[in-house]
Amino acid sequence: MVCKLCGEKAQVEVRSRGLALCKGHYLDWFVKETERAIRRHRMLSPGERVLVAVSGGKDSLALWDVLHRLGYQAVGLHLQLGIGAYSERSLEVTRRFAQERGLELWVVDLKEAYGFGVPELAQLSGRVACSACGLSKRYIINQVAVEGGFRVVATGHNLDDEAAVLFGNLLNPQEDALARQGPLLPEKPGLAARIKPFYRFSEREVLSYALLRGIRYLHEECPNAKGAKSLLYKEALNLVEKEMPGAKLRFLEGFLDKIQPRLQAGEEVVLQECQRCGYPTTGAVCSFCRMWDAVYRRAKKRRLLPEEAEFTPKAEAVRVP
Ligand code: SF4
Ligand SMILES: [Zn+2]
Ligand SMILES: [Zn+2]
Repeated sequence: MVCKLCGEKAQVEVRSRGLALCKGHYLDWFVKETERAIRRHRMLSPGERVLVAVSGGKDSLALWDVLHRLGYQAVGLHLQLGIGAYSERSLEVTRRFAQERGLELWVVDLKEAYGFGVPELAQLSGRVACSACGLSKRYIINQVAVEGGFRVVATGHNLDDEAAVLFGNLLNPQEDALARQGPLLPEKPGLAARIKPFYRFSEREVLSYALLRGIRYLHEECPNAKGAKSLLYKEALNLVEKEMPGAKLRFLEGFLDKIQPRLQAGEEVVLQECQRCGYPTTGAVCSFCRMWDAVYRRAKKRRLLPEEAEFTPKAEAVRVP
């Protein structure tokens, strides 16, 4: 197999797009494709400041790397979730990445900010770990972005992630989730815009970029990811993709182009300020505040917190050296 552009030995085959490229041309192609996605959806203006949610995994570190190379002022935000050694290693890898490149990194420690990490939060809230964690991540990332004056938050979701979410939302039809899914969620008062510049790259393509760029990322998955439905959906879609290269991309893009606009034609959801924290929500109190208020009540009953302890929604993001 030779590179389509220079005839040298190809290092990566992008079957879905009928491409084979050498290392140099693959790295260039990857960066240009990201830029194309950013322009196509008007995700960022040239050189704009953007908050990148970084877990330490290949997708988020590759995204931070590409956005930096494209000239955006990409600031990293890492959440310390308190999931044992996995969380410690995530921070270590993220810090090393930032230090080696002189990039600005902010960290919010869930335990320091609110008193509990994900394992205790899950137990006290009665939710499964990923539900409590996901809700906290979305809320805190948005809060840090808004307070820090960022218009946009970027996440490393790739095609496999997005196609799996779509698959899940179709299996158990969720009309509002289907209407909202996409590479760009525009900003609203109190809500930063959310962008997914890698949404057209498969997991394998992002992995190839990370490896060829020599990015040292955390290889292990969060222990709570085991058994997640999204992994089953990814496996199912990979089976289809194997027989029909490009099927995953057609599935996602076909939905976004042809079906989603009809779903969005419905009524716009009305948002109001949460009575507790002031951030936008559909009810009187947002689900983040409701979850943590309940956690504090239970923690006091079990004497894990003193009677006078009060949940405060605001988290401090600390800039790490
Ligand atoms: S797998 Fe679940 S618990 Fe682990 S980081 Fe992701 S959402 Fe959080
Ligand atoms: Zn080449
Ligand atoms: Zn709230």
